[in-house]
Amino acid sequence: MFAEVALNIPLDRTFIYRVPETVSSKPEVGKRVIVPFGRSDFLKTGIIVSLKEKIEDINEAYIKEIFDIPDNFSLFTENNIKLAREIAKRYASSLGEVLFFFLPSGFVIEETSYIYLKREEHVKGKIEKQIVDYLKKKKGKVKLISLSRAIKGKSVYSTVKNLIRKGIIGKEEDITYTLLPTQKFAVLNEIKPVKGKKEIKALEILKTVKELPVKELKEKGIPYDTIKRLSAKGIIKIEEREHLVNVKKQALTDNRKIVLTADQKKALKEIMAGKNETFLLYGVTGSGKMEVYLHAALETVKKGKSVLILVPELLLTPELRARVESYFGENIVVFHSKLSKKELVSQWLKAVKGKSKVFMGTRMSLMLPIKDLGLIIVDEEQDTSYKEQQKPLYHAREMAVKRGNIEKCPVILVSATPSVESYYRASIGKYKALELKKRVSNIPLPYIKVVDLKEEKRVGIFSESLISAIKNTVKKGEQVLLFINRRGFFSSGFCPKCGFMAECEDCAVPLVYHKNLNKLICHICGKKYNPIYRCPECGTKLEFKGYGTERVEEEVKVLFPEFRTVRLDQDSVRNPTKGAKLIADIKNGKYDIIVGTQIASKGHNFPKLTLVAVLMADTGYLLPDFRSAERTFQTIVHTTGRAGRFKPGAAIVQAFDPENPAVKYAAEYKFDLFYKEEIEAREIFNYPPFSYPVVLEFQIEKTSKFTKIEEKFNILKEKIKPYFNVPPLNPAPIPKISGRYRFITFMRAANENDLLKGVDILKNEMPTLFRGIRYRIDVDPVYLL
Ligand code: ADP
Ligand code: ZN
Repeated sequence: MFAEVALNIPLDRTFIYRVPETVSSKPEVGKRVIVPFGRSDFLKTGIIVSLKEKIEDINEAYIKEIFDIPDNFSLFTENNIKLAREIAKRYASSLGEVLFFFLPSGFVIEETSYIYLKREEHVKGKIEKQIVDYLKKKKGKVKLISLSRAIKGKSVYSTVKNLIRKGIIGKEEDITYTLLPTQKFAVLNEIKPVKGKKEIKALEILKTVKELPVKELKEKGIPYDTIKRLSAKGIIKIEEREHLVNVKKQALTDNRKIVLTADQKKALKEIMAGKNETFLLYGVTGSGKMEVYLHAALETVKKGKSVLILVPELLLTPELRARVESYFGENIVVFHSKLSKKELVSQWLKAVKGKSKVFMGTRMSLMLPIKDLGLIIVDEEQDTSYKEQQKPLYHAREMAVKRGNIEKCPVILVSATPSVESYYRASIGKYKALELKKRVSNIPLPYIKVVDLKEEKRVGIFSESLISAIKNTVKKGEQVLLFINRRGFFSSGFCPKCGFMAECEDCAVPLVYHKNLNKLICHICGKKYNPIYRCPECGTKLEFKGYGTERVEEEVKVLFPEFRTVRLDQDSVRNPTKGAKLIADIKNGKYDIIVGTQIASKGHNFPKLTLVAVLMADTGYLLPDFRSAERTFQTIVHTTGRAGRFKPGAAIVQAFDPENPAVKYAAEYKFDLFYKEEIEAREIFNYPPFSYPVVLEFQIEKTSKFTKIEEKFNILKEKIKPYFNVPPLNPAPIPKISGRYRFITFMRAANENDLLKGVDILKNEMPTLFRGIRYRIDVDPVYLL
């Protein structure tokens, strides 16, 4: 038998291996295998993607043998592999890259090289000497990797190679099976008389319970040495058993029992009657969308099938988990990047072994090897965190729809402000639209007042309307949220005389002044600079403009010294313990005014919050991105929607251009009109959903290299012209990141077929054409800067 194996390498191909009789377990699709690879037969972990009895076109004599198949279960389902093939095809990756991107790294077995001193001989070179001395000191075998850590220097590896060639150093390979989470158990075997106090105590415990994890015996005061002695005497056996760890949670429970309204019931009925359709479930915040999808999930589970719930990164809060648990109990599996290596492996195995029916997590949960999947939910489907920014750069929402097709199960996309793409597809019947028209509770939506920042009198960034609204709200004992989309103090310092702007030298973006650190910080690469106050070109005093959370916080404190103000942004919740405490304090009413970014506008429910202000609603509008109107609209709707969840509230939206449709329609709750206008604009300018874009980006260290890249790009252009509209290469809106100059082209295919054909050419031609050059192929891009 032969196995087709995918490996974690960027080559777009798989490898055929012979399956010998000696492997530990039966060959099956989706299982991991350990195979020799390359000229030196270094052992690598691969995944079996197909099995064949016979092979053609390859001389069997050249086929290598699988080293081992260690597990008796598959880490990917057959459907997973189908989905991975689709992702590889659309996002210009190899099948192996995709599979290993999703597979927790704890499953990857690595070969480790050890070296040791064979004979002591006088060596000359400085590095040679250091290596020999190090090995002498350590005696015995040393991991090659620890040697390279102990001895700093570029030539360590080549020097080791030389020493091996000269016969001074020997080398051995060893495989570490970084392995499945297990726990040691002490199991009573045969009762014999014992003497020691601890041994007697251990035996007494085990006589009643028969077996206990070694860890628990230790907690009862019995050291591992005692257990080992009992085992040597044959009294107990030490067994290694599979142990899937549970992810700790904050103690939060949600015991609401919900009876759906007539509108909710109707939506639920349509979902349950549908087969493998995609639904767009939309309606204002508080219209009861989540209760609908949780009910659909519950009915699916009752039918014996599993459910996958995808949520944006910032939404995966303890509140959300508690709400899902109120439906399914605590046996739900959560999956996201903050988990430890061991937890990730455990959660993945819970899917493999069917230990749970409900899986919830961020975009990386898309590929969980869930069997019998009966429903996929994508909450806040418009969220940009569904797009992966590293290879394979997949869009989890689009691929969730694909997974639904493969698994033949329904998919529900959920949002208060759907992406224009999904809204359009629902409007032409490609997705089934389910709208919840009003809020469940009789608390009305907040009244939104739009303030013209050019016209109205203001103090700093605070209009008169806002100032009086803040006073009234706090007087009533309620809370205010002031939303600004940037952390830091000033967003730029510039010279009024010569136009100099304080920019990051590596990234060519304006630096943001952080007052509490007294540093200028680049928000792209994080580099810190000492603040400057005078123009380095002409000596004029710099002017500072723009607002960040820190500056707003300071102005609030000056305007309202008697109110308790707090800042809630990435900087203030970086430490998770402090962050959780801060959020609890806000909920408990310890603060009157919260100055926050997205962190404050997503996920958390602040019961006392009744006034929300978007301080500068339309500054993002000027960015050169076709989605800036959509983002402005979504930010206003979501942020103002935080007000008055539990009692009536209001919102103030401050804007420089109040007539801007994104601002106007959001504030008037005329969502249909916004989408109608936006879809018309997209059609006129041929943007998605009317075209299928790919951003090609090149990064170079010296601008002088550009001409060469452009020449090659023109060769490529000829080949992809039949499938894409290809504009010339231009500097990116952020022209420099981390010292590299960026050039991009925004290409568009007319339909999905052309897109896939074009991407295939990019994937095959670019590695050779642009060897040694940094580039990326971003299909379905969400950031164009
Ligand atoms: P959305 O997802 O549209 O924002 P939710 O499903 O979160 O709305 O509902 C908003 C609030 O109303 C939640 O606290 C929810 O528990 C409650 N709710 C939703 N549907 C009902 C219902 N039928 N009866 C009582 N409360 C409901
Ligand atoms: Zn920078």
